[in-house]
Amino acid sequence: MAKRILYASSEVYPLIKTGGLADVSGSLPRALQSAGHEVRVVMPAYGDVIGKLKQAYPVGRFDAGGTEVELIETMLPGSDVLTWLVGNKEAFGRSGNPYMSGDGNPWPDNAERFHLFDRAVAELAQGRAGPSWKPDLVHCNDWQTGLVPALLSLESNRPATVFTIHNLAYQGLFDYDTFQKLDLPNVFWHHETLEYYGQMSFLKGGIVYADQLTTVSPGYAEEIQTAEFGCGVDGLLANRSESLTGIVNGIDTSEWNPARDQHLVQTYSKLNLERKLVNKTELCKDFGLPVDTGMPLIGMVGRLVSQKGIDLVLDILDRIVAIPAQMVILGSGESKFENRLREKVKNHSDRISIYIGYDEALAHRIEAGADMFLMPSRFEPCGLNQMYSLRYGTIPIVHAVGGLADTVVTATPENIQSGQATGIAFYEPDADELYAAIRHAVALYKNQAIWKQMQLTAMRQDFSWAGSAAEYSKLYYKAMDDAVMEVG
Ligand code: ADP
Repeated sequence: MAKRILYASSEVYPLIKTGGLADVSGSLPRALQSAGHEVRVVMPAYGDVIGKLKQAYPVGRFDAGGTEVELIETMLPGSDVLTWLVGNKEAFGRSGNPYMSGDGNPWPDNAERFHLFDRAVAELAQGRAGPSWKPDLVHCNDWQTGLVPALLSLESNRPATVFTIHNLAYQGLFDYDTFQKLDLPNVFWHHETLEYYGQMSFLKGGIVYADQLTTVSPGYAEEIQTAEFGCGVDGLLANRSESLTGIVNGIDTSEWNPARDQHLVQTYSKLNLERKLVNKTELCKDFGLPVDTGMPLIGMVGRLVSQKGIDLVLDILDRIVAIPAQMVILGSGESKFENRLREKVKNHSDRISIYIGYDEALAHRIEAGADMFLMPSRFEPCGLNQMYSLRYGTIPIVHAVGGLADTVVTATPENIQSGQATGIAFYEPDADELYAAIRHAVALYKNQAIWKQMQLTAMRQDFSWAGSAAEYSKLYYKAMDDAVMEVG
């Protein structure tokens, strides 16, 4: 049954992106609309977004908790998903990063800005903002939209609410003075509502008040209920475990398709996998490495931060090159890791090459050219690169956490025998374990028959958004039942 869905997010690709949230917010609404729902996306009208839009129309003004906002209507580029931008010059008109000023610190008025956005979303949700459209359900994402379920809990005849956690590490914490400035009802200053050890938590608004909670993989949904991964709210999440579901993100299968990829020198598919080798040769040339097609080539792309386990890789780089194997790394992040990598390259310039920076095309070329792909993340809510790797027949080597454990089937003898293996997992975030996993991968690589079977199985996996959208649809019906029960 088709429903009216209001999808609220602080970043939506391709309008603005700082991370995976934007990818999801740009893809899931389309997939939901293709599944028959009537979807409206709502996000703040950031200065840089307004400047980029060719067609955007002001459709009204309304009061959002005492501040006037403008509603601007556009289409999510390349789609038929109607998108509303909430405009207020003072809050959102500035250009640059949506959350941080140029010096890397959060904007000092972030609480006021996202409080205003959330008030506006709540008005839209109640059908009071102008457009004669009222959703059946509001889907909120991360702390920036956490007040929406809280505000709607005060309303009668409200739509159902779903709150998705993309990254639990960011909680939107502000002091008590800020809470008072926002003029929120006193009921929200309590440890069972928004108060969190003397601070106000936007995230708790979502966790406490949404009808249903989701996160971006079943594995991470379990993990965040434990002290190790729960960032201080594990108890709260465990209390709501009956309403917490993990749904793996999809990937953009037209953007990431080895048979059509514009960034590749040679496209390929399951039917002509031997053509993948041309990409390996080209990748070595791109990175200035000697071409040795018989030697395993390991790729890595991502933020160079400890979450991604780059320190584990650094600890064993000398041993990796001695296997022998070659390695290409694309990324940027903490300077201590960038510098250590530069040092390593000096000693092993025929085996390791790095590119410090962000380069979309090169990321595609690594996925296609490498034989194996490393993701030794300490925690990983979902992860995208391992899914790209699988689709490109590039065998992922992963630390079995969160979405990595959910999407990669490790090469045990049984899984190889039954033709289900797609990668190699290791179980402790430890350099020796990582090294053992790489050795295991290299041993399998030398067995052409097994390796090819793993590649083909990997390439057959379906990570399209349609499957995830179907799971969200099911959850929406559940949330609507919950909302009805609460009101009834
Ligand atoms: P996270 O969101 O934690 O950074 P994900 O694996 O979920 O990790 O998504 C990261 C995305 O950003 C992937 O699409 C990855 O290819 C891309 N990416 C990260 N760093 C770079 C880089 N230096 N150059 C190109 N793409 C990058």
